[in-house]
Amino acid sequence: FDEIFDVIVVGSGFAGMSAAVQAAESGAKVLVIDKMPVFGGNSTINGGAMAVAGSPLQAKAGVKDSVSLMVQDMLKSGRGMNDVEMLKLVCDGTSESAQWLAQYGTVWKPFVQHFGGHSVPRVLQTKESSGAGIIRPLIAAAEKLGVTMYKQTKLESFIQDADERVVGVEVKRNHFFQKSRSGTPAKLGARKGVIMATGGFGRDIDFRQMQQPRLTSELDSTNHPGANADALKQMMLIGANPIHLDQIQLGPWSSPDEKGFGTASQFNTAATYQNGIVVDVRTGERFFNELADRKARAEAIMTRRDDQGKPVYPIGFTNAKGAKNAQTLAWGMKYDVIKKADTLEELAAQYDIPADKLKAQVAQWNQFVKGGEDKQFGRPLMQAFELTEGPWYSVRMWPKVHYCMGGVRVNTHSQVLHLVSDKPIEGLFAAGEATGGIHGASRLGACAVAEGVVTGRNAARTAVSEKAIDL
Ligand code: ADP
Repeated sequence: FDEIFDVIVVGSGFAGMSAAVQAAESGAKVLVIDKMPVFGGNSTINGGAMAVAGSPLQAKAGVKDSVSLMVQDMLKSGRGMNDVEMLKLVCDGTSESAQWLAQYGTVWKPFVQHFGGHSVPRVLQTKESSGAGIIRPLIAAAEKLGVTMYKQTKLESFIQDADERVVGVEVKRNHFFQKSRSGTPAKLGARKGVIMATGGFGRDIDFRQMQQPRLTSELDSTNHPGANADALKQMMLIGANPIHLDQIQLGPWSSPDEKGFGTASQFNTAATYQNGIVVDVRTGERFFNELADRKARAEAIMTRRDDQGKPVYPIGFTNAKGAKNAQTLAWGMKYDVIKKADTLEELAAQYDIPADKLKAQVAQWNQFVKGGEDKQFGRPLMQAFELTEGPWYSVRMWPKVHYCMGGVRVNTHSQVLHLVSDKPIEGLFAAGEATGGIHGASRLGACAVAEGVVTGRNAARTAVSEKAIDL
């Protein structure tokens, strides 16, 4: 071996950084590697929202919540496909993990939000509205705790001993992502084990199409360019059991007018879906429950097509009271993703919507809010308010590939299970999006941070408790 550690963590997103910090807290000699030129993966470019069951902020807002209610919500969204034991482990760990993150410097906004598919407001969000508000403090903590961190270092394959225990990884150092096998080879030993926190494969068009042929290159993705199936394939090669790989989530809040995650995703999650409505531009009418789970919303949006099957992008909009975040608005308008209109007539004209119909829909919505019941689609109205005056802010919407519910099968100790024996592959652990089963058919919003942090720490606890082997 070129170098030897106790624990090697592959990937530096929520799952990897949480695992690294947790393992280092108990004194382990830890290495984090990431193949990309920057740390943080998808985690650092998402909205930084974390679903937490039973937070002090919920108590302050008078919201009644429990671990079992969160489990029920996720099971409903997952269409009953979820691994219930893993689900309980994640939900049960959210409250303590949110505090653990805060101890290391994550600052949560002082209120809870109501995201789609959750039956109550339970979402905390970093003050930056970005996962960087979690990743940066964790990287600082890792450095303080003596964790070694190598970027541009790609896992190529696993090293196993005679008993097939994973004892290290073969990597390429100074790896350039664009050139598939570039870099200098090195062998890194792991006395206690390797934790795979390598995320999903949303940007891997070939692999995702093998699972779901409709996910062609026509669909953009919110993921970072490194989100491919290479690491998953290496785990499969040593016997890991891949499950639910065809369960690939489309984010229902993105816009065709920009690349990647973008501003629209932030705007729609925090503004239109909570405080506004979404309408078909041909009719001016709502056509789904804007607080349904992601799968229901994305599928509903994708039904909006013309006679030739081409997308007819619906719009989401809210007013100044609903839009809240001035910075998101400024960015969105600068790049022409978010449009501003002073009146509903002007908004209708911007998208060629029949103005009388749009006005009638808004009036009807306001009646629902007043009456406390959405008679069209049964949307929960706990945080809704009447949309009475402009200015109006709007975006065009079309889903993008966002998250892979599938991945390797793990047990509640975050050990990766073998395809044939269903027993742990010794020395191999996995956490975060790299694992499958927790979310079933559809992950609820703000549950990836919850999953990554809780399962990353869980994997680290198991790994450090392993007997160190002599290398
Ligand atoms: P999660 O939210 O589950 O932590 P992320 O997508 O945020 O997932 O992070 C996964 C990280 O793993 C990314 O930064 C990605 O570059 C890294 N990664 C994926 N495959 C490899 C690999 N083969 N070698 C090294 N790093 C990898």
